[in-house]
Amino acid sequence: MKVSHHLYDQLSRITSEENVMVDELIRNHTYTKLGGKADVYITPESYSEVQDIIKLANKEEVPFTMLGNGSNLIVKDGGIRGIVMNLQKLSSIWREEDKIIAQSGARIIDASRTALAESLAGLEFACGIPGSVGGALYMNAGAYGGEIKDVLESTIVVTKEGDIRTLTAVELDLDYRTSNIPDKGYIVLEATFALKKANSSDIKEVMDDLTYKRESKQPLEYPSCGSVFKRPPGYFAGKLIQDSELQGTQIGGAEVSKKHAGFIVNKNNASATEYINLIRHVQKTVSEKFGVQLEREVRIIGEDPVE
Ligand code: FAD
Repeated sequence: MKVSHHLYDQLSRITSEENVMVDELIRNHTYTKLGGKADVYITPESYSEVQDIIKLANKEEVPFTMLGNGSNLIVKDGGIRGIVMNLQKLSSIWREEDKIIAQSGARIIDASRTALAESLAGLEFACGIPGSVGGALYMNAGAYGGEIKDVLESTIVVTKEGDIRTLTAVELDLDYRTSNIPDKGYIVLEATFALKKANSSDIKEVMDDLTYKRESKQPLEYPSCGSVFKRPPGYFAGKLIQDSELQGTQIGGAEVSKKHAGFIVNKNNASATEYINLIRHVQKTVSEKFGVQLEREVRIIGEDPVE
């Protein structure tokens, strides 16, 4: 799809022109450093701009995709048609009573650090998750025994029709690495986390411990999408991959991490195609050796490249 002048003009009237980028390379905006071009990449600065963009996309029947920090996404090399929206310019975080309120484009790591600074406990588990608040709700992100579901009180979303609604956490059907956000087509604008007063040195101790565990086990020196696969019932994905002797296997610039078998790293300017082919190779090998089907945690979106 080529962006028409008509669409570009209308988007530039909703938000300022500098927030509307045409043919923008997505790999410049993803943690994985993968992905072709977005027809339009837009970074609105207010909730009403988000609403207006959705309403315009509906009216003009233009496809629409949300992108957070791109830490759980592989965008294919052919890029994404239509509008890609990122809320990085809506990233405020503040305290109200014993709650931390964070806008969707804030990093969940920063929400966790703000909670520490405010001596509020509950978000320690998120101190090393490299996603946005919006992406964390979408995935019900979690680590080391904690998850968003445990602390989320409510959220403000925009519906597919472009209306703003406040929902309780229960209304998002949060479960292991899922929510109903994709089915409902919600865009998360804001999240309220209900936390507990605590001693900041105790909170910091927990966070330091989790950071140590993460840094010693995960290949954080390379771009990646974290754990590629969900935990198969009764097994550990990393152990199955390790026992299949897949660590160090490369396709192009993508490699099954030698440090953590559950990670595939973008070691040397991998294309999305190489990364995806390596995921498939791992799935096939583990299935042949152990009869276990590894289900992806990471989402793959976008178009295949034109040959
Ligand atoms: P993206 O990858 O950009 O998007 C994920 C999905 O969310 C997409 O479908 C997107 O459309 C949707 N989305 C994004 N923003 C919004 C919004 N505002 N409204 C509606 N939909 C939206 N995950 C864990 O759960 N636990 C971990 O411990 C963990 N560790 C990780 C470690 C590393 C090194 C890496 C690279 C990843 C890790 N992850 C982990 C995965 C990832 O960071 C989380 O899933 C994170 O929540 C994804 O957020 P994101 O902003 O990057 O989302």
